[in-house]
Amino acid sequence: MAEIKKIGVFTSGGDAPGMNACIRAVVRTAIYMGKEVVGIQQGYQGMIDKKFVPMDARSVRNIIQMGGTVLKTARCMDFRTPEGRAFAYKNLKEEGIDALVPIGGDGTFTGAEFLSREFDIPVVCVPGTIDNDLYGSDYTLGYDTATNTVIDAIDKIRDTAASHDRLFFVEVMGRDSGCIALHAGIAGGAEAILLPEKETAIDELIEKLEQSAEKKTSSIVIIAEGDKNGGAYNVAKRVKEKFNFYDIKVTILGHLQRGGSPSSFDRVLGGRLGYAAVKSLLAGENRKMVGLRNNKVELTDLHEAIHNHTFKLEEDLLEMANILSI
Ligand code: ATP
Repeated sequence: MAEIKKIGVFTSGGDAPGMNACIRAVVRTAIYMGKEVVGIQQGYQGMIDKKFVPMDARSVRNIIQMGGTVLKTARCMDFRTPEGRAFAYKNLKEEGIDALVPIGGDGTFTGAEFLSREFDIPVVCVPGTIDNDLYGSDYTLGYDTATNTVIDAIDKIRDTAASHDRLFFVEVMGRDSGCIALHAGIAGGAEAILLPEKETAIDELIEKLEQSAEKKTSSIVIIAEGDKNGGAYNVAKRVKEKFNFYDIKVTILGHLQRGGSPSSFDRVLGGRLGYAAVKSLLAGENRKMVGLRNNKVELTDLHEAIHNHTFKLEEDLLEMANILSI
């Protein structure tokens, strides 16, 4: 394999807190190892539009505490075509970029795998998505911060729910993965948690809420946006038809879950994975994802990380959440 001289780093897909800490780690590790680094703005779109920015150790100062991504991110349709990727590769080559660290989710990894196979450019990817749905890493960048943001919101909603004797349905992010909903629901003491991975019968939910209404004066139900009942408004509407113990309210947390300063966990994770991605590339690794397993940084074959990506529902945790909410 040819010697790597210049590494390109970019963020792609949904932004996630901790991406900046990771960019910083990639840039500084590469420079420490005597390599050049180029930031590619707006992910694959920036490869096509030649949005290349030379980075030095100082260009990533004062970003470790910032949410979002200083390199910006985008979703790029052209990159899904062989012609689009050929054009992107031509631009990379002209810029002298000979290896890549993509930071993103499974879509980003799929694009990176295509590019690497088609043009023989080494890639080592970092899992950056609040959904925590990638195989090969116990945590993805941003998940911890997003879950803490949700818990903070639940705590605030609980204050008003308790003051007015209300039942709140709180919808959180997670189209395919209920990881945020499950963990925030447990940490926030939710009455019930509805997830995309498991269908919840509305009659059973009503029965549970009726039982708890005999003992409690307010309650919170967490619903992942991908829940099969169609989200918080639909669930609330159907529950209202048969349940009249409390005043019912709905809160959709939406994009605020993506923002905010990264938690210490996400900053450290960003540092560890960015550092490991560069070291792995320079050690000759290709088409891998760096992840954290049992608190150790490990490599997973990119193909596996993409295709086994579904979050496996932790049934035992859901059962525990039900028991702890009696
Ligand atoms: P998140 O989990 O936050 O949504 P993601 O990386 O999965 O992040 P996507 O929008 O699915 O987000 O993918 C990001 C980009 O990766 C796409 O806009 C596209 O440019 C590229 N990409 C996704 N799927 C493919 C594919 N099948 N072939 C080539 N490129 C792809």
